[in-house]
Amino acid sequence: MDKSTVTAETPKNPWGSVNPAAPACSLADVMSEQLARQLDEENNTFPTLTEPGADLMLSGEVPDTTSDLMLAQILQMQFDREFDDQLRREEKKFNGDSKVSISFENYRMVHPYEDSDSSEDEVDWQDTRHDPYRAEKPQTTPRKGFTGKGKNITTKHDEVNCGRKNTARMDNFAPEVHVGDGLGMDLKLSNQVFNSLKQHCYSEQRRSAKLHEKKEHSTAEQAVDPRTRLLMYKMVNAGVLENINGCISTGKESVVFHADGGSLEEQPVPDEVVLKVFKTTLNEFKNRDRYIKDDYRFNDRFSKLNPRKVIRLWAEKEMHNLARMKKAEIPCPDVVVLKKHILVMSFIGKDHVPAPKIKDAMLGSEDMKNAYYQVLHMMQQLYRECNLVHADLSEYNMLWHEGKVWLIDVSQSVEPTHPHGLEFLFRDCRNISTFFQKKGVSEAMSVYDLFNTVTGLQIPVGAENEAEFMAEIVALEKRNEDHVQKRRKKVFPFASEDSGPPLEPDADD
Ligand code: ADP
Ligand code: MG
Repeated sequence: MDKSTVTAETPKNPWGSVNPAAPACSLADVMSEQLARQLDEENNTFPTLTEPGADLMLSGEVPDTTSDLMLAQILQMQFDREFDDQLRREEKKFNGDSKVSISFENYRMVHPYEDSDSSEDEVDWQDTRHDPYRAEKPQTTPRKGFTGKGKNITTKHDEVNCGRKNTARMDNFAPEVHVGDGLGMDLKLSNQVFNSLKQHCYSEQRRSAKLHEKKEHSTAEQAVDPRTRLLMYKMVNAGVLENINGCISTGKESVVFHADGGSLEEQPVPDEVVLKVFKTTLNEFKNRDRYIKDDYRFNDRFSKLNPRKVIRLWAEKEMHNLARMKKAEIPCPDVVVLKKHILVMSFIGKDHVPAPKIKDAMLGSEDMKNAYYQVLHMMQQLYRECNLVHADLSEYNMLWHEGKVWLIDVSQSVEPTHPHGLEFLFRDCRNISTFFQKKGVSEAMSVYDLFNTVTGLQIPVGAENEAEFMAEIVALEKRNEDHVQKRRKKVFPFASEDSGPPLEPDADD
């Protein structure tokens, strides 16, 4: 029997027919089949490889590889990126941990804009509509106060515009304030943040000015700031002064220099003059605001001025007050010229020696009594004829020269109708009474009598209770203030004399 026919024929089986056995195959075939399947699966889990540089294309765009030019460009970009990566590594190696580093930025092949790595970082915090490398010019709002039409109106209060403007305004901060390199970015500083930065900047400036001032004031010659020194030199150059000799006094608010007078076209300049330089950097003047702020002659201007200009007002005030005193023939310096915060006036003294303050002048009892009566008379003249209260009258501001008392230092003097005028006068009276009584002048009146004598008021002295007397004075001031307000319908002329002395205690309208 043929073997093939035997295997081909299905053998008879008593339990039924048997399924034909699967055809036998070699082990190698099985292995290669499995490998093929595995490879197929792997192919499905990994994305299909695309052309080099395809990842550089913007998402959603299908790389057009049909164009040779495009392909070349894509490949070039890939090459450039690799070059830049290498450059970065070299830069890092070159700089190491050194504090000073060299940038290879300029040798990069890929423009930062195309460098996806860095531009992606920037997108998070920066508005890419604006060129990050160019400082924004602040957008100005037209005069009408808004831009746009209808619903799209943008006012000057627009948050974004304000923010950008604030950032640009940081440019105006003092050079020593480091505002960082954020100026070129589209930063928007809220008003609150900007204001606190500004405040910080100012306080830092003030602090450093204070330190600087201490240094500047370490010697008498350096007692004024460079700007003032320049102004002083100019006066010498213009011939108003022949020579500036030296410092007579350095006070809290002013520095006084002695100088030889030159010539001024309209008027003769005395041989010896003083320059009273009102200090421009000190806060001390702040305490004196109330002398000038409530003085109606100045208050319109005061409120609009910056501190530097307020200092000039003090000099101006001293000049006007001296002029009034001169008119009443009260012994006081003659004003020569006023230049900003420098007042030039005649020198009280002789041959470079200033007259002594009355506290230092060793006066005999007769001279002292004489001096007292002179002072009493001057106080009355000041009050009645000049319509002024000295407001800093004491043995420190009276000089003894040629047998006379000279009044100086009248920058803070106010009119009696000043809201605190009578209180200032009372203080002056107390200084004068106390000084002359201490010096043994038996004729020296009590502070209450002196006050009444100078003013012509008759405030009851009674038990000489100061609190009661002061209460009367304050009540008077209040009444005067109301009265002045009523009378001041129009703005008073600058050196107006028509406000008159305060009302009598019982006079009311
Ligand atoms: P301060 O406000 O600083 O007190 P003052 O006007 O009182 O300024 O001047 C300070 C000092 O300078 C005076 O005490 C006085 O010794 C001197 N002085 C001021 N003016 C004159 C002057 N015209 N002639 C001579 N000495 C003066
Ligand atoms: Mg003084």
